[in-house]
Amino acid sequence: MKLDTKHLRYLTAEDWRVLTAVEVGSKNHEVVPTPLILQLSSLRSGSGSHKSISTLAKANLIARTKNAKYDGYRLTYGGLDYLSLHTHLKQKVVYSVGNQIGTGKESDIFVVASPSGKQQVLKIHRLGRISFRTVKANRDYLRHRQSASWMYMSRLAALKEYTFMRVLRDSGIRVPEPFACNRHTIVMELIEAFPLRQIKEVPDPSNLYAELIEMILKLADFGLIHGDFNEFNILIKEEETASDGHGKSASSGASQEPKDVSGALKLIPYLIDFPQMVSVDHANAQMYFDRDVECIKTFFQRRFHFTSDEPGPSFTQARKRAELNCARRLDVEAEPSGYSKKMAKELEKYMAEIGNAADDDQGHSSTGHDNISAPESSDTEVDYDSPGALLPMT
Ligand code: ADP
Ligand code: MG
Repeated sequence: MKLDTKHLRYLTAEDWRVLTAVEVGSKNHEVVPTPLILQLSSLRSGSGSHKSISTLAKANLIARTKNAKYDGYRLTYGGLDYLSLHTHLKQKVVYSVGNQIGTGKESDIFVVASPSGKQQVLKIHRLGRISFRTVKANRDYLRHRQSASWMYMSRLAALKEYTFMRVLRDSGIRVPEPFACNRHTIVMELIEAFPLRQIKEVPDPSNLYAELIEMILKLADFGLIHGDFNEFNILIKEEETASDGHGKSASSGASQEPKDVSGALKLIPYLIDFPQMVSVDHANAQMYFDRDVECIKTFFQRRFHFTSDEPGPSFTQARKRAELNCARRLDVEAEPSGYSKKMAKELEKYMAEIGNAADDDQGHSSTGHDNISAPESSDTEVDYDSPGALLPMT
């Protein structure tokens, strides 16, 4: 889904109040009745509030909806995007929005700039994009309200991802630095790297393979299993390690340069994409663990024709190692930072149902969680490199 920022700078303070009122109202109403919007925004009926409602509806931030008993409005994904961006802007985390660099099944990724001009990544979670028709309607927390459920689930996914990125980063696992989380979005460090998927050759696959397996084991030491540890979710950064370094040690599809295997550049893997992460105590932990290991083995065999001499590691080996290492349990530590067990259960249930349904529908990646594509081109997108085209969000 595109992020059309062109209305951001035109909205008035009243418009923002009304938009916030629709968001607040939708916690209890599938369709928020117009009088409630007016009441929640503390604006007098008949004044600017009707104008605000019409401005927001024209910009597709809210959508007029009739239900059986009354007319009202519901918040759209665009509306939620605006509220979230508005907060990142006010908190001086984001200054402007650039190009879209990724479209997953359940997220959109953009490059954004901080007020000091630093490039960052904005990840917008879009759970529910697939189809809620496939989700069983008997969950009490959804109360059959679809709009509330996609908002709630997307927020949960963002909160989970942000919380785990924080604890992982603090524990020395290489992940992008998370800067902020608001509603269904996260702002994080931009890693200038190619996904492993795009790397065609590496000088020493055994080294990289060992590092990735070590990463899986380290996660397990901390009580965690990534659950989608594949070539899309591992970014490979090249770092110079020697002064004579020039040329590339890994060649991506995009690179035209000759390959230089001097070893002057080191390949550093970064792990991303955490909404599906599970605890080692999860009922299916072994299956998730084995799948993560298998994904890497299969990819290295196919892409680099590399097979490790060592079998496994198995889940049992990983658990034994964790016992010896006595590492902190990050699955437990994440809870006090706001991501509760109840939330974990709700999101997991959603992911299991939607994940399976979507796999049947699409099946476009090894685990059904990923898809990357080239940025979509459209009139509304901004060329980040052209300063005149930037849309300051003020
Ligand atoms: P999804 O859930 O849609 O798979 P990801 O978090 O895996 O979302 O991101 C999708 C793609 O966006 C990645 O494969 C990667 O190419 C790019 N991407 C995501 N986060 C970053 C980041 N911090 N730095 C650089 N690229 C990123
Ligand atoms: Mg991904």
